[in-house]
Amino acid sequence: MLTSALVLPLLLLGCAPEPPAPPAPFEELTERDRPPVVLITLDTTRADRLGSYGHDLAQTENLDALAARGVRFDRAYAPVPLTIPSHSTLFTGLLPPRHGVHTNGDAVLSEEATTLAERLQAAGYQTHAAVGAYVTQSHWGFGQGFDAYDDDLGLPTDRLSWKAERRADAVVDDALAALEGGADFLWVHVFDAHSPYEPPEGYSTERPYDGELAYIDDQLGRLIEVLPEDATIVVAGDHGEAFDEDGEAEHGLLLTEGVLRVPLMLISPGIAPGVVSEPVSLADVTPTLLRLLDLPLEDDLDGTDLLQPSSRVGVYSEAMQGAYIFGWAPLRALTTADGRLLKGAYSTTEGTLPEDAEVTLDAIAAATPAWEVDPLTLDESQIEQLQALGYLASAPTEPVVTGQDPRDGITTQRRLHTLSTKPPAEQEATLREVLDEHPRHRDARFRLGRLLASMGRLNEAISQTEEAYRISPDSSTAAVTASMWLQLSDPGEALQWYHEALLLDPRSLNARAGEVEAMIRLGRLDEARVLVDEYLVKSPDHGRMLLAGATLALAEGSPIDPWLEPVTALAQSRPYEVPALQVAAALNQASGDTEAAIALLRQELRWRPHNTTARLELAVMFREQRRLVDVLKTIRPLLTTQPDEPQWHAIAAEVYLEMGRTEEAAPHLEVCAGTLGCPEMPGHSGG
Ligand SMILES: [Zn+2]
Repeated sequence: MLTSALVLPLLLLGCAPEPPAPPAPFEELTERDRPPVVLITLDTTRADRLGSYGHDLAQTENLDALAARGVRFDRAYAPVPLTIPSHSTLFTGLLPPRHGVHTNGDAVLSEEATTLAERLQAAGYQTHAAVGAYVTQSHWGFGQGFDAYDDDLGLPTDRLSWKAERRADAVVDDALAALEGGADFLWVHVFDAHSPYEPPEGYSTERPYDGELAYIDDQLGRLIEVLPEDATIVVAGDHGEAFDEDGEAEHGLLLTEGVLRVPLMLISPGIAPGVVSEPVSLADVTPTLLRLLDLPLEDDLDGTDLLQPSSRVGVYSEAMQGAYIFGWAPLRALTTADGRLLKGAYSTTEGTLPEDAEVTLDAIAAATPAWEVDPLTLDESQIEQLQALGYLASAPTEPVVTGQDPRDGITTQRRLHTLSTKPPAEQEATLREVLDEHPRHRDARFRLGRLLASMGRLNEAISQTEEAYRISPDSSTAAVTASMWLQLSDPGEALQWYHEALLLDPRSLNARAGEVEAMIRLGRLDEARVLVDEYLVKSPDHGRMLLAGATLALAEGSPIDPWLEPVTALAQSRPYEVPALQVAAALNQASGDTEAAIALLRQELRWRPHNTTARLELAVMFREQRRLVDVLKTIRPLLTTQPDEPQWHAIAAEVYLEMGRTEEAAPHLEVCAGTLGCPEMPGHSGG
């Protein structure tokens, strides 16, 4: 038996919650006038790994004690086994078909959605978020309704440490400070249980996932202990972890019990402790809190009040990631009191299902958002971040349905999963093997393209990303392809790809900034100026638009003073933001500080050794300073990677001749002979 339907009515009979007093106007409040509401989300936390859910080895005393004080929902299910869509549901009370966010990176939660934070803010709550991950930063649409939002992960400038999460101690410190500052709606998100499982010292390394949970529990304990008795507290997992169930290592692709079943507990004055065994959804959290706090509850939310008997047939979940990456059919599930229906890429039935299970599932899946969903253009650093997390960020506008069984692709996915930690040559070999087997594996193709570009093989790279785009067009892939054409010094081709990206995502400032860069390179300065004036006013903090504006100023010969300081600061804090270091170098050079410019270009080449234009610019600066040995050192990699390119040999020949090393100049002169810029061999005359 999966459930006991008796628990819920008993709970309701025994302990109907007292209706809370209507909220007082905000100005009259002191900290004690209204008990705080705290929503804690535990990333990647399986219900069955907490002590209160029966895990004997758990060291989760604080959460267990909390569960004992309130209602523990024994069968709570995530709508999607991924952070962004799952939290979107949690905050809106809407399922993915209606909020429009299906995977990590396909869309941001629309401004038109009304979130729990917005509703509480409108009711006078002082709202505060303290989160621990890139995937819960405010730019995914979660910032709506929050007066303050702590999502600074302290991103180090070292690219390799992007995987680093913000640990729970820092998140809880922020949360405690916010409480002290008077916040009375608090969202606290801890990411530690997400892979890699590396608990801090003092926690189990034998069972590192449990160790992470024990650590989280200790940190949350610091928060829980200062919350007043009458606080309303919700603790929810956003999704679980597969741990090899059906072959899946982590989460995102399949709909198994391990990834869907999450902890959910509700503690609020007037609600007696109990356990609810009916299946419930994370979509139910918002409507439940609205009712508990006596705020207007809309009928047309997908979620229902957790404390009222529900008439629904079952709880909806979906997994679209496989559709986006592999072209698998979308996978959907309806979990009912006594079973589960899985439908899509593979269809199975577990347990006993009500007759209308399939009709219900189809009806939920067929719903659409009340607003236009804006597709999202990810920039290189966002793609990098998501791939480092194991999410594959190349969501097309429409998934291609092939009907292939997702479980067949799990092995492939596992090979790709840890790939980014391997040496480039090994990555390339693996990606090519995967593509031999699955030529339409869009993500593998996209990754191969980006890998080849990072290795300086831009022509090959472009053919891969263009193929990925043909398989399924999306704005991010178009923008990445465009930036490769820019690197190849073909701004005309780049401009076309930026237009393609903007067609699919008209709001993308990254693509817009790229468009400006391409126009500048094409000499279309007037058109570029119109765009910069329009978009930089709208979004003065947008990094790439700032860079485009500075580049335009350099091209126009207009004053560079306003750009020098902000662009140099951007380059230092976000050196991975292409082309921040290069533009900062150009500005410093133009302002007369060649030493600073050289240092910036050297930094650029440490990040991107295959950036040919940066290498050339650095060589020219050394040449002007007559640092001839440095010129040779700078262009040497180009002579190796592009041995047939005459212009590098021309520079080498010229420098050797100037140094009086005629013999060493000779082989270079042979290659560049007859081309523009190739010096004459001394003693020879004529051409
Ligand atoms: Zn998550």
